[in-house]
Amino acid sequence: MDCRIEKLISNLSLRSIDGFYFESLTEVRNRLLEIIPEKCTVGIGHSKTIEKMGIVHSLIGRGSIVYDKTMLNNKDEIMQIKKKALTADWYITGTNAISLEGHIVNVDHSGNRVAAMVFGPDNVVIVAGINKIVDTVEDAIQRVKNIASPMNARRAGYNPPCVELNKCIDCKSKERVCNSLVIIEGQDNIGRMKVFIVNESIGF
Ligand code: SF4
Repeated sequence: MDCRIEKLISNLSLRSIDGFYFESLTEVRNRLLEIIPEKCTVGIGHSKTIEKMGIVHSLIGRGSIVYDKTMLNNKDEIMQIKKKALTADWYITGTNAISLEGHIVNVDHSGNRVAAMVFGPDNVVIVAGINKIVDTVEDAIQRVKNIASPMNARRAGYNPPCVELNKCIDCKSKERVCNSLVIIEGQDNIGRMKVFIVNESIGF
């Protein structure tokens, strides 16, 4: 573990967020399957990182109830499952950026993912590849707006201006994908939030 990650874990701890380091997504996956009880509900905050980890079917296979919108096509059912995930026992998601100071920064389209990170589930695990780590909270906001949002918009089939420009112009487009910008700066509930830092470049 390099000194930057040690510094990040130490700063997260000062914010009552538990940070852990893993060499690979496989290690993260195995650890999650150890710490999440079989008979519980798990919400999934859609993320390339979580998708690549491939944990959803393992959780379902051993008896957990999983709320993952990507398993559905119907708009009403997707809305219902997003709401259920807000009160799941566990919530697993990625992040758009994290500063060395420990700020966890995300944008969201409809807001369900950032809402669950902030309040609701009793346990939240945020999985972050090392590509998400930046120096300051200002750098994190820049990353979110100018890297993560255009790539997310492209992935989801939206076409706000940043898709062409590769930078944010704070558009008022109907195709805008970043309607909520949320900075998590700490936790009141000690032990609720964990950040699993992975020594891989994953997601955006
Ligand atoms: S505000 Fe508009 S241009 Fe800026 S990142 Fe969001 S969708 Fe893209």
